[in-house]
This record gives sequence, structure tokens and C-alpha cells, in this order.
Amino acid sequence: MTVDVGIIGATGAVGQRLIQLLDPHPDFEIAALSASAESAGESYRDAAKWRINHPIPETVAEMTVRETDPDEMPDDVDLVFSSLPSSVGERVEPDFCEAGYIVSSNSSNARRDEDVPLTIPEVNADHLDLIEVQRDERGWDGALVKNPNCSTITMVPPLAALDEAFGLESITVSTLQAVSGAGYSGVTSMEIIDNAIPHIGGEEKKMETESRKLLGSFDGAEVDWHTARVDASCNRIPTLDGHLENVWTDTAEDVTAEEAAEVMREYPPLDLHSSPDQLVHVYEEPDRPQPRLDRGRENGMAIAVGGIQETDGGIQFNCLAHNTMRGAAGASILNGELLLENGYL
Ligand code: NAP
Repeated sequence: MTVDVGIIGATGAVGQRLIQLLDPHPDFEIAALSASAESAGESYRDAAKWRINHPIPETVAEMTVRETDPDEMPDDVDLVFSSLPSSVGERVEPDFCEAGYIVSSNSSNARRDEDVPLTIPEVNADHLDLIEVQRDERGWDGALVKNPNCSTITMVPPLAALDEAFGLESITVSTLQAVSGAGYSGVTSMEIIDNAIPHIGGEEKKMETESRKLLGSFDGAEVDWHTARVDASCNRIPTLDGHLENVWTDTAEDVTAEEAAEVMREYPPLDLHSSPDQLVHVYEEPDRPQPRLDRGRENGMAIAVGGIQETDGGIQFNCLAHNTMRGAAGASILNGELLLENGYL
């Protein structure tokens, strides 16, 4: 039997990827779509201005877009995927949780809250049980689960592999982020063509804090954040999809480039429907990974790593992930699959 799902913020960059990845899905069936009041009442085809290179699924094209309000959700929906702007998510996601819906959300609001699980299933699936703490504290029948920011998801799996084997003391990262990461109305062509922008509002802080929460340990009551120092510098460049990042680490134990590559390659995947067969693909070619060539690996759900080198005290590497697939829509669907496997749905 499949779980009926709703998508709130269904017409945007991430919402369209959610629809692509759920067309079809063995466990989830789209039962309702919502967006802003301007789109409500229109057919999804008219409201969405479909912009991805995958045909708009006929099953959703003629669905009527609803207002983003729990009273507008059909009762048989059990899981809601949220891809709302964070200012809107902050306001409406708690209403959905209070009304009994489990919300798997992309928005940045509440990611750092002590009682909100922030999960990458392959890295910290055990943090999902923070839901019990959250329900005790907030009295919700539903629950709120977050996936991290797209630039954070890109670097954390290879970092988790290094941390488990050699211990991480510090992390420095500089990003080259695609325009789709800003959403459909995020960066105008006049701003980004023939250009690079060395500032993405709030992104550095997200990378610095979310990575420490993800790499932290959960004792059944709270997450003890990782103590590594994290410094990030974020840049927007004129690629369409795929965030490329240069990462430097200091490790507690000495590590060679070969050992680092081996632990990353062998980092265990999960058996969830959307989990890639191999989570981290390591390239030997010094000029890979590249956004256009490597963002689509394993349906856009794998992390690509290259340029692994020893440094004085640690390891340097480059990594890449598809920001709207692994970094957003695929991440929240994977969290949905984890919720199902763990009996929350
Ligand atoms: P987007 O393209 O701007 O889409 C925003 C969506 O929210 C649209 O469906 C829009 O509906 C809806 N919306 C806007 N204002 C609303 C309101 N007041 N009430 C209800 N719905 C409203 O943004 P996006 O890139 O898909 O990002 C969505 C969320 O995911 C953001 O929080 C973003 O930070 C996060 N995220 C994005 C990425 C990425 O790579 N793009 C990665 C990770 C996380 P209308 O069409 O009707 O305006």
C-alpha cells in the first residue's frame, strides 16, 4: 500500500524536482499540491511554469493547486514534503505538524532547533528519533524533519567518512554554487551571466552550523554537536545545477590520500529506494568532478569527489552534488523513506 503525500511549495525549483522524483515512487503517491495564494485555484500546469528537462507528469498536470493551509490538505495525506521559502515555512510548517501531518522539509527554518531532526539518512539516521523528544515538548501528533542546506549535503558524506576513520578537527570550505540553488526568482540573468557573486546570504552560517549538528552524536535525548571548527565561504556561479566545493580538513590522525579515498568509496549506502548504490564516487582524474559531467550520477543522488591530496595536518578534496536532487528534493524524499522504514508512517 502506498502513502498519500502532499507537496507544499510545489511549483518552485525544488517542488518540480519533488514531482519528478515521485513520478512514480513505489511507496508515495502525490495526492495534493499547494503554492502561494496567487497560484491557488489554477491547474498545476498553468501555475508551475515547468522548467526541468523531464516531462510534466500527466497525473499532476491537471491537479488544482491548493492554498498552503492544513485545512486544505486531504485527510488521507500522511506525509507532506515542504519546499516553501523559509519565511513561509517558519509560519506554516508548525500548523501542519499540529494538525497531525509529518512534514519532511527543505526550508532552512528550524534546522538548528534542538528538538528537530536534521538528517542525511546514510550519515545520521539515528537522529530521526528526536521526533519522540519533539512530540513530548510540542504536543504534536505530526512531526517536523529537516534535510540540510544543499551546500552542506554536498560535503558532509565524505567528511563523515573521514571523521569516522580519522577524526576531524577543522573543516574549511569554499563553494561554487549553481543558480538553481537560489530558486526560480533568485538570481536574474543580468546579475549572473559573465559573472560570479562572492556572497550568498546566510549560506556560510548554514554550512558552519548544520554540518556540526549532522556530524554530532545523539544520545536519545539531545544531539551533541561535533566540536570541529567549520569555516565556509560561498560563491554563486553561472552553472545551472550542481554545487562544486573545495574542502580542506585537519584530521586527528595522520591519513594518506589513498586511505582517504578508500574510506570515502566504502562509506556504506542504505537500502532505501532513493539511496544510490554507492554514496561517494571518487574520481582519479584531477579535473573531476565537474557540474555538467558529474551532477547526474545515480539519478543525481550520489556525491562525487576528486582531487584528494594530503596537506600539512589533513586532507584536501573537491566534491560535487546535484543541488536540487541530492541537495533538496531527493534529500527530503530519502528522509520520507527513512520515516516509513522506521515506522513513523
Ligand atoms: P522557489 O523556486 O522560489 O519556490 C518557492 C515555492 O514556494 C513556490 O511553489 C511558491 O509558490 C511557494 N510560495 C512562495 N511564497 C508562498 C507563500 N506565501 N505561501 C505559500 N507558498 C508560497 O524556491 P526553491 O528553490 O524551490 O526553494 C524552496 C525551499 O527549499 C527554500 O526554503 C530553499 O531555501 C530550500 N532549498 C532549496 C534548494 C535549491 O537548490 N533550490 C536546496 C535546498 C533547499 P508560487 O509559485 O505560487 O509563488
